[in-house]
Amino acid sequence: MSDPVQSTMQDAPLLISAILKHGATVYADSRVLTFDGEGVQEGTYGEVAERAARLANGLASLGVEPGDRVGTFLWNTQEHLEAYLAVPAMGAVLHTLNLRLFPEQLAYVIDHAQDKVVIVDGTVLPLLARVADQIPTVEHYVLIGDADTSVLGDVPVTRYEELLAGASADIEWPDVDERSAAAMCYTSGTTGNPKGVVYSHRSTYVHSLAEATGNAFGLSETDRILAVVPMFHANAWGLPYAGWFAGCDFLMPGRFLQAEPLARMIETWKPTIAGAVPTIWNDLLHHVDQNPTDLSSLRVVPCGGAAVPLSLMQAFEERHGIRIVQAWGMTETSPLAAVAHPPKSAGPDEQWRWRAKTGRVSGGVELRIVGDDGSVLPWDGQAVGEIQVRGPWITGSYHLDPDPEKFMDGWLRTGDVATVEPNGFIQITDRSKDVIKSGGEWISSVELENALMGHPSVFEAAVVAVPDERWDERPLACVVLRPDAQATPDELCDYLSDKVARWWLPERWTFIESVPKTSVGKFDKKVLRKQYADDELEVVQR
Ligand code: ADP
Repeated sequence: MSDPVQSTMQDAPLLISAILKHGATVYADSRVLTFDGEGVQEGTYGEVAERAARLANGLASLGVEPGDRVGTFLWNTQEHLEAYLAVPAMGAVLHTLNLRLFPEQLAYVIDHAQDKVVIVDGTVLPLLARVADQIPTVEHYVLIGDADTSVLGDVPVTRYEELLAGASADIEWPDVDERSAAAMCYTSGTTGNPKGVVYSHRSTYVHSLAEATGNAFGLSETDRILAVVPMFHANAWGLPYAGWFAGCDFLMPGRFLQAEPLARMIETWKPTIAGAVPTIWNDLLHHVDQNPTDLSSLRVVPCGGAAVPLSLMQAFEERHGIRIVQAWGMTETSPLAAVAHPPKSAGPDEQWRWRAKTGRVSGGVELRIVGDDGSVLPWDGQAVGEIQVRGPWITGSYHLDPDPEKFMDGWLRTGDVATVEPNGFIQITDRSKDVIKSGGEWISSVELENALMGHPSVFEAAVVAVPDERWDERPLACVVLRPDAQATPDELCDYLSDKVARWWLPERWTFIESVPKTSVGKFDKKVLRKQYADDELEVVQR
């Protein structure tokens, strides 16, 4: 045997301060635009980086030390990006707070993470004030904009701009351990309390590189990112760090997340990439169909967080020339784990078959599907099992909550049920808590919804399991019709009959005004199930 060889490579730590410095120097002229309802506020990367240095020094003057948690209760804005960069780079831990949490959950996550300082936007300060007396770890608030701060009690409040003005722009970013905590995000806790996922510098760094590759979104300096997905929802899918590393311009929508201002932003400031959950794109499609808008600057629209209906992708492509690319991930996976670009072997008539799938597993993520009996199933496009993943940007536990049920031999159990093709394309049929088991066989609520949403009269559709004497469970179709459109259950069943198995066709139908949404804009099926159980829905039987 020959002598062992040592690697000659340097062992440089993978730090968020390195991401910050790279963008600040190499792409100093790239821009961050924040929409204010009329126009945009602008800053260059050079300016943003200088303000991040001031923010770090300012937070240190308030007593923030390495490892301390700094909460952000903010929209997507330049200041939020400054906090994204400054807080981890100074060795503290960024904790993005979901603006739409119920008060008890908001108090729970601030207290559980032990946030020491919270940076809050004046427009949402009243929401934070509701829990101010339940978050004793918070020693200081930093206020962006204007608001009556007396509602926050006796805790001192400093204005963001004053904090920055009074702080030095000189900083030596510390050399922290690349495996130390950089940022944290709680899952939205559909059942029980939210769970904290803590990202490291290293996980964020490698995730950022992966997201910029051509098999993901191919980010470069020529891109401009419209991050509609909130920066508190799984790090805005990693776009802030990946985009900054690649020198992309940012277009921050602030609190203007409705279809009309989004359309105006796209037409005027011409982003090349825009990420949001399907419900946002569905609203936007309806708006631009009625109000023609030039969306042609968009080269790719990453969409995920929930199944993306094929009809939505096709409508955008055919009517507006916009390419939606479906992606899959979760808070626990940083979040990017799969992206549905069609394989090179796919001919012109096979494009949609692949693009309709959930995604193709990303390099850096190991994925398997596991059956009910714990056996690992083949990637044959047929076997259905729970997706399990592992890798350098996948969580291995939850903050102060080992939750062994969510892990199996070092793999994260995602709770998503899927098939996998031999080439790594996954197709999620359901979340395990949403599956419909009828007479011992599974009905995919996702497939039924996607098929229904292809009907021209249907604006939105959610399908949930309801108890059934004969079959144990049957699907209940909850349908939102387009304004002025008509459709009966029989017509909708006719439409579905060549798209899904006959025995899947729902007997129970309800026509509702809108599908209830979770705090990150997904269909909230547990609310629908409860409304049905409480007899609050007007159900038509076929
Ligand atoms: P929450 O658990 O609060 O919804 P996450 O955003 O972390 O917050 O949710 C991750 C889940 O979203 C995944 O486990 C999966 O069920 C669902 N999801 C994400 N992307 C897709 C997709 N493209 N198709 C179907 N489901 C998806």
